[in-house]
Amino acid sequence: MALLKTSEAHADRSPIRQAVILCGGLGSRLGDLTQDTPKPLLPVDGAPFLELLIREITRFGVTRFLLLAAFQSDKIEAFAAELPARLGRDVTVEVAIEPDRAGTAGALFHARERLEDRFFLFNGDSLLATDLLALEARLAADGAVGALALRPVDALGRYGVVTLDGQRVTAFGVSGDPAAAGLINGGVYAFSRAVVARLPPRGALESDVLPHLAEEGALRGLVCDGFFLDIGVPEDYARAQTDIPAFFRRPALFLDRDGVLNEELGYVGTIDRFHWIEGAREAVKLANDRGWYVFIVTNQSGVGRGLYGLEDVRVLHAHIDAELRDVGAHIDDLRYCPHHPDLGRGDFRRDCAWRKPSPGMLLDLMRVWPVDRDRSVLIGDKTSDLEAAERADVRWIRFVGGRLDAVVANLLDENHT
Ligand SMILES: [Mg+2]
Repeated sequence: MALLKTSEAHADRSPIRQAVILCGGLGSRLGDLTQDTPKPLLPVDGAPFLELLIREITRFGVTRFLLLAAFQSDKIEAFAAELPARLGRDVTVEVAIEPDRAGTAGALFHARERLEDRFFLFNGDSLLATDLLALEARLAADGAVGALALRPVDALGRYGVVTLDGQRVTAFGVSGDPAAAGLINGGVYAFSRAVVARLPPRGALESDVLPHLAEEGALRGLVCDGFFLDIGVPEDYARAQTDIPAFFRRPALFLDRDGVLNEELGYVGTIDRFHWIEGAREAVKLANDRGWYVFIVTNQSGVGRGLYGLEDVRVLHAHIDAELRDVGAHIDDLRYCPHHPDLGRGDFRRDCAWRKPSPGMLLDLMRVWPVDRDRSVLIGDKTSDLEAAERADVRWIRFVGGRLDAVVANLLDENHT
């Protein structure tokens, strides 16, 4: 299996690769449902909620997960052990067990030795559609210790209001008129490790940490007005069974690599021979912003032929990933086929079901991701790409040159999404 991986070669750009997830809540509002199951593991459409949350986070290049558990932590540990195989992705999943009722800030405090220089933090029982790359970018501001996703609501209800001056949070969690509109905490954060110095061994982020960071001017905010659901409320947990699958079901843009994203020079295996097609990175960003999955499907028989190695492919794909980040864009997942039926050497000589024109790479992506096939499109430059799309029952566009973003803008407009 060929998967998008990080590379030490790009440590200098140091994207956030760690996500910490708060899994210690008791779920008392859900009554019997959480008697034997930690709230984040409650099933949604047949899968544990936490698996769906983590799958969404992997789209943004996160590969290391740290689950902060307390209540029924043995079940969280069993889940963590199985997860990489269930995701079909190269991720590590660790569990840190917090002392009883340490609270959200306390849970983070007790895991402080395991936090990376910068990390994302999520509530394990809610889902907010967040452009994590945009949130990460907020953290780069001078003096920022944290950045949080904010949700606009028509009525604040029991929630404290968050106020912004530009991107800077000026006040966090101040109680306001329950009937007034405003911004509330969305439960998705990016932090620098500097937050550790502010954490108490027992306490809540919302009351004991974030208000102080706001006063210091060390918090940034990102308004996210897309999908939100909190499974901790019984009515919303019931609603999750239909709303969450609908949220995850999206069209996919399958992109051939050589000749579509980068110039076709024949067997491109190294960064020096990788030259972007005009508008290619912008095209990926357009599809990201429209909520489409974006996948690369590429034949790389150059590996099988001995022209370059698997590690070269990984380094090149980390480079593509880093360059896309510069424009706030990301590839959600990727498949490549290193085999060739006649010219492959050793184990690489194989009539592989992943090698286009066979549809294996597309089919595997549609097995892992809940793709809306009818609205999906493949863009390729060769007949073998288009044949693979046909055999996977996916529409296709032949790319014949010009700006790729113009092609993608057209197809997104046709789809009215
Ligand atoms: Mg091509």
